[in-house]
Amino acid sequence: MIILPASFENRMSRILGPEFPAFHSSLSADIHHSVRFNPKKVVTVAEPSHVPTCQTGYYLPVRPIYTLDPLFHAGLYYVQESSSMFLEQFLVQSNKKQLRVLDLCAAPGGKSTHLSSLLPDEALLVSNEVIHSRAMVLSENLKKWGNPNVIVTCCDPRDFSRLPGYFDLIVVDAPCSGEGLFRRDPSAMEEWSEANAAHCALRQRRILADVWPALAEGGMLVYSTCTFNPAENEENISWLSETMETEAVELELRKEWNIVTTDASGYPCYRFYPHNVAGEGFFTAAVIKKEIPAVTSRSKSKTTLPLAGKSELHLLSNLLQNLPLVQLKFEETFLAFPSALLSELELVKSSLRIVHAGVKVGEIKQGSLIPGHELAVSTIANKSFFPSVDLPLEQAIGFLKREDFQLNCTVKGWNLITYRNHPIGWAKNIGNRFNNGYPKEWRIRMSTSEYTGERLAEEARKFPQITL
Ligand code: SAM
Repeated sequence: MIILPASFENRMSRILGPEFPAFHSSLSADIHHSVRFNPKKVVTVAEPSHVPTCQTGYYLPVRPIYTLDPLFHAGLYYVQESSSMFLEQFLVQSNKKQLRVLDLCAAPGGKSTHLSSLLPDEALLVSNEVIHSRAMVLSENLKKWGNPNVIVTCCDPRDFSRLPGYFDLIVVDAPCSGEGLFRRDPSAMEEWSEANAAHCALRQRRILADVWPALAEGGMLVYSTCTFNPAENEENISWLSETMETEAVELELRKEWNIVTTDASGYPCYRFYPHNVAGEGFFTAAVIKKEIPAVTSRSKSKTTLPLAGKSELHLLSNLLQNLPLVQLKFEETFLAFPSALLSELELVKSSLRIVHAGVKVGEIKQGSLIPGHELAVSTIANKSFFPSVDLPLEQAIGFLKREDFQLNCTVKGWNLITYRNHPIGWAKNIGNRFNNGYPKEWRIRMSTSEYTGERLAEEARKFPQITL
């Protein structure tokens, strides 16, 4: 049996009573492997075991080497712990349309990619991460997910007070003491201490207080942690309900989900214990904002964002599906962004530090277009416009490692490279060989030399099963 820090063990034993031994032994049990599919890219999944609280979530029988699966790199699925997928219930059980959504603590992007799939096309998702290097990983994952109605920012929570009453939904998946991760990540236990857990609770309150002004009247704030500590969970919900004007959010739970409902000053909270659910430890609750916020002054004037010119639009027009998108120009780079959300982009840009927005369509250099990698893996490209080359698995992995290659292909210039007909990037046919256009910073770095022939085929059988 795994040895727990004494004060954690005492606390959990007090909370769980006779259930504590089952909880304790579950920490030594095998972990569950789960993924969430991208509904804009995957139509049929052939995995039998469904995550009950999430329409696109599935358990896998064994953990594959995801790095070897080109469809993982192409954003067809996201590897996510299943308890976290419960976020979906707050959106599907809410009777309000959420059109401006903030994911405040978003890296590496589990909840943001999920939100991006749950929100309607006309909604805006602002996905924020305060640590710059983590914001880059977040951007990468959202680019691979492929939807254009997303802005990634790198800001401190207090910066959002510049957008008072702006968001209909704010998700705060707060940095926490990580007690729910002890099974999956033993280093979480090594870093754990009472003092750190207490520090986390204070930091979470500061984060909640900082972002609260940005929530609209009637808007919902979903709070979550991956810890069991009441000071970081129910006590923070109680504090929020006592210090802000709030209403409770109650969800309908199915008995077989085995989620434990607790109470925080009359507000229902939801706890996930690893001995009850096929997932890791997790806590979540939501509140609605009652008070009347200051009204955001919205500029109705013509956009000051730089739009692509006529001749550039001519070069770019065939690259995208016929969707209500606008093309923005930043030096030589062109971005596609939903036209209806242009004023939102302008407002967010004037208040926050943006690190990514929309889909980079490409660059025009000396009159010719270099397509952006993001366009290849986006959900908005006009794929039939491009010549394409479908690669078998071993070659697709070589492409993702950024190797150059030779193929019998006659179409010169940029070709869309696909695997099982799903775009994984660009390569330029220069006659005798292809130049690989896969982004250097995203390339597969692991050594794959032992994964060839039958060994690779064996690994491929473990990949999430997507039928075409
Ligand atoms: N929501 C993410 C997901 O589903 O993939 C996981 C978020 S993780 C639990 C918490 C995030 O909060 C981390 O990325 C961390 O860098 C960020 N963070 C750390 N300190 C913060 C602070 N003071 N304010 C806001 N975010 C912070």
